[in-house]
Amino acid sequence: MRYTDWFEIVDPAFKSLILPNAHVDLLYTGGRWLEGPVYVPAARHLLFSDIPNNRVLRYDDVAGTVAAFEAPSNFANGHTLDREGRVISCEHLTRSVTRREHDGSQTVLADRYDGKRLNSPNDVIADSKGNVWFTDPTYGISTPYEGSLADSEVGCRNVYRLSRDGQLDAVVTDLQQPNGLALSRDEQTLFVVDSGVQPARLMAYELDPKANLQPGRLFSECSDGMYDGLRVDSAGHIWTSAGDGVHCLDHDGRLIGKILIPETVSNVCFGGLGRNRLYVTATRCLYAVYLNVTGL
Ligand code: MG
Repeated sequence: MRYTDWFEIVDPAFKSLILPNAHVDLLYTGGRWLEGPVYVPAARHLLFSDIPNNRVLRYDDVAGTVAAFEAPSNFANGHTLDREGRVISCEHLTRSVTRREHDGSQTVLADRYDGKRLNSPNDVIADSKGNVWFTDPTYGISTPYEGSLADSEVGCRNVYRLSRDGQLDAVVTDLQQPNGLALSRDEQTLFVVDSGVQPARLMAYELDPKANLQPGRLFSECSDGMYDGLRVDSAGHIWTSAGDGVHCLDHDGRLIGKILIPETVSNVCFGGLGRNRLYVTATRCLYAVYLNVTGL
């Protein structure tokens, strides 16, 4: 396949971010709905969720093989790595955010807000100050296919920030279904997808000097399918999932190019030892592509 079949260049600026001779590699097929990838450099593997199959899979970056990492997985969805290299998970079934410690044990970081159970944490990030940010839509309690059927106890769908000392604050409360999230390079802007509106929206929230979030502004609307998960590269571009592949947005939220994937994409993450390979979870398959830019 020629490279032009994998990439759609909307703005010439996109050309410098891709490698003209790089292919999109199909690494795995056989999931039901793959999501939540995280690359663990120390282990040279990528963990990713197969949510309806209630398992987390592991792609071995050295051997090029995929095997079960954890099953059952409490219908885990989003993952991230904190600054100490520990994997943090969103679990639909336990309606919690957990952390896997270096000794293999798991710690519950958050499962309640204001004394009520969370809905079903979906996606999570960790910042340089030790805060953990996560979204809490209802996708994991609206059908047993991706968790369990249950009522919302909190009665809202928020974005939360868990501070290093354990304080949980609802920092975004005005979205229908907060989903993927990311921080800008300087950690002064929080990006959050709202996948509960049509078309799906990517919102941006500026942090003031006291780390309070300002009212959100519309950053980008999805032009094909749905936004779900996203990541930021070291030059500040946003790489987000969409119906026809991965969309690359510039600093102003303008679509500059696409990586075309033959299945609906749910999430992306940068990995490889050079952090220059973008891993893409897309419905049943895991794909990856080397880029001419590195992840944050
Ligand atoms: Mg998601």
